[in-house]
Amino acid sequence: MSAPILEVKDLNVSYGKIEALHGAHLRVEPGQIVTVIGPNGAGKSTLLNSVMGALPLSGRALGGVFFEGDEVGGLSIEQRVARGMCLVPEKRELFSTMSVEDNLLLGSYRRARARDRNYLDQLDHVYQLFGRLKERRKQQAGTLSGGERQMLALGRALMGKPSLLMLDEPSLGLAPLIVKEIFHIINDLRKTGVATLLIEQNARAALQVADYGYVIETGDLVLEGPASDLANNPRVIETYLGLA
Ligand code: ATP
Repeated sequence: MSAPILEVKDLNVSYGKIEALHGAHLRVEPGQIVTVIGPNGAGKSTLLNSVMGALPLSGRALGGVFFEGDEVGGLSIEQRVARGMCLVPEKRELFSTMSVEDNLLLGSYRRARARDRNYLDQLDHVYQLFGRLKERRKQQAGTLSGGERQMLALGRALMGKPSLLMLDEPSLGLAPLIVKEIFHIINDLRKTGVATLLIEQNARAALQVADYGYVIETGDLVLEGPASDLANNPRVIETYLGLA
């Protein structure tokens, strides 16, 4: 059996005296969409940031992070990106005065630097996935709607051809119809072979799109299972789906 794309083993993270994650474990298999759901402050962003090596200076992580079978816990963010890991942070961090297309091309800078001319093919591929970005390729990123900005953040991440895409709350602040569109696109990404680790407060949408899920509460992974099982679990229904 091939190694999982991502495996997290016994991960503990603290910020000074605050313990934010206790012994977390997680696996993402090739081509899978895996979600971690949970309330505000449960430790979801902490989990993603520690996998990416992007914890703030006050954060301390102990435990194992394996990417395609190799321990990557000691690598810098840039080295992890070079391996094929990519994080789309909650704040999306676009260059608002630059055009949509220039933002996308920045996502491929590592490949351009490596004289990989295929980045133009990748641009075509991203425009196929996001027709809206192609229509608006000359528009300043700062003038895009919230949904279009999220599409641009996703498109820019894909420009680097990652094998693992980590998404921090892609639905945050978006209207329900746009959330539907974004999740439709996340589902479509499956066909491109990229594996996705999706952190969400919108449990309903996340469990619909994911293959497997974990529930995190105050730093502990309290439940896990195939996403369809979690969606039918009475505790998940009561706590996360009742009001969603
Ligand atoms: P949200 O959905 O609100 O972003 P989350 O599930 O992503 O929540 P985290 O942001 O990972 O949760 O936070 C987990 C815990 O760690 C919280 O108690 C939070 O206050 C704390 N925490 C996060 N970042 C820091 C930091 N830089 N310094 C101190 N404590 C932090």
